[in-house]
Amino acid sequence: MTTYTSHYINGQWVKATSAEQFLVHDSSTEAVMAAVPVGTAQEAERAVLAARAAFDNWAALPVETRAAYLDKVSAGLKARTDEIATAIAGEVGMPLKLAKLVQVGAPVWHWANFAKVAREFAWEEKVGNSLVVREPIGVVSCITPWNFPLNQITLKVAPALVAGCTVVLKPSEIAPVNAMILAEVIHEAGLPPGVFNLVNGSGPVVGEVLASHPEVDMVSFTGSTRAGKRVGELASQSVKRVALELGGKSASVVLPDADLEAAVKGTISACMLNSGQTCSAHTRMLVPAARLDEVKTLAKAAIAKLTLGPSLLETTRLGPLASAVQRDRVLGFIAQGIAEGAEVIAGGASKPAFDTGYFVQPTVLHVKPGDTLAREEIFGPVLVVLTYQDEDEAVRIANDTIYGLGGGVWGGDEAHAVAVARRIRTGQIDINGGPFNSHAPFGGYKQSGNGRENGVFGFEEFLEFKSLQFKPA
Ligand code: NAD
Repeated sequence: MTTYTSHYINGQWVKATSAEQFLVHDSSTEAVMAAVPVGTAQEAERAVLAARAAFDNWAALPVETRAAYLDKVSAGLKARTDEIATAIAGEVGMPLKLAKLVQVGAPVWHWANFAKVAREFAWEEKVGNSLVVREPIGVVSCITPWNFPLNQITLKVAPALVAGCTVVLKPSEIAPVNAMILAEVIHEAGLPPGVFNLVNGSGPVVGEVLASHPEVDMVSFTGSTRAGKRVGELASQSVKRVALELGGKSASVVLPDADLEAAVKGTISACMLNSGQTCSAHTRMLVPAARLDEVKTLAKAAIAKLTLGPSLLETTRLGPLASAVQRDRVLGFIAQGIAEGAEVIAGGASKPAFDTGYFVQPTVLHVKPGDTLAREEIFGPVLVVLTYQDEDEAVRIANDTIYGLGGGVWGGDEAHAVAVARRIRTGQIDINGGPFNSHAPFGGYKQSGNGRENGVFGFEEFLEFKSLQFKPA
């Protein structure tokens, strides 16, 4: 077990003032794997003021200097891949092999890619008698969740830093170890004091200081829609820019001419990644009513291949959930769905045969639009199947949600599948299982948030415009 006793403020590890700790549990063994200090409002403020003091000099550095720091961080994280992946496999429950690839590989790539994006960016543009210049927005608060912890941190902190912003990070209290390793890597990379700061703490205390402090110019938040609304409300009092990456209930629309086997397999993979603890998971599968029986058979077969097990075991395809709270919440949803009349196609609320670990069986349920399980983000290994009679009804059901983050359309005629995809109000749609693209903008319509992350689109979120006007010659 690792015990951390400090926050990272102004280029130093500063001993926490409170003895209170968050205990981090290994999701497979339930053992305490680490402890981090619970930060106070004063520590959060100290970090904000350090970031403010560091801003002018950091923003004035040549882009190449800042980009070179990012390359160093990328290399530093890469060198610690095994350690970070093992930590996240414990914190979140993702199988280790996959965690190396997704939970560490993606952040390593993004740190280097944001350096490249900033180097290649057109920082100035002539428009008529104006020179339009892009400048960093200022001090940025980054508040992040536990499901892809280092990746969600990276998609904020890396572009903000290379844009010339200074940062205060508050990671999730459920998965903070990876963030502490990142702070060590950033320290070793030699960033000037105050440019990057990390304070652990709760949302209502440290998070709310970061969302409301007058010296913060922007809040970049990823988490639940509930907490995102609160952050937006607090930030609006000093008219901060707010970027929100929130929940989802994404639809996978299987058209009548789709390759049904590929569509069902692909949807189940896109739902179950990280045991369903994925904001853009495809959690509603919309199928033609006449094909329901075939879908049930295919879904059962696909679920049977998802070997459930501890995250460090080689044979595990699906790990546990991140916490006991999350497991109980998901089991509660499954029970509620069954009570509302859902038909269990696979899995269910019974306990898998493990002595320890926050396990939930991968579950597929047939529900009706309007049922709780068709509407609520469950954030666990639960797929609901809904039937439709015609394409208009499919589109109507797909759009019948407060969310709009991801989704998929499966169809034999690609051009037609694209036409259907254009009718769905959501930020990303995979056509016939098209893979995730880390250069493409990622973010939500409706209550899934505002703002975009990834690549140049994510980078520009941290910039202001300034127009300089010249007298025409
Ligand atoms: P959460 O909202 O409980 O917590 C997220 C972060 O917000 C944590 O750091 C938490 O401490 C902080 N927080 C909580 N209350 C706060 C408050 N009042 N003020 C300021 N900060 C506060 O979410 P979670 O359970 O960690 O993560 C799961 C949620 O995140 C899901 O809804 C998921 O869809 C969403 N998510 C979205 C994306 C995306 O890109 N859209 C990515 C990952 C996760």
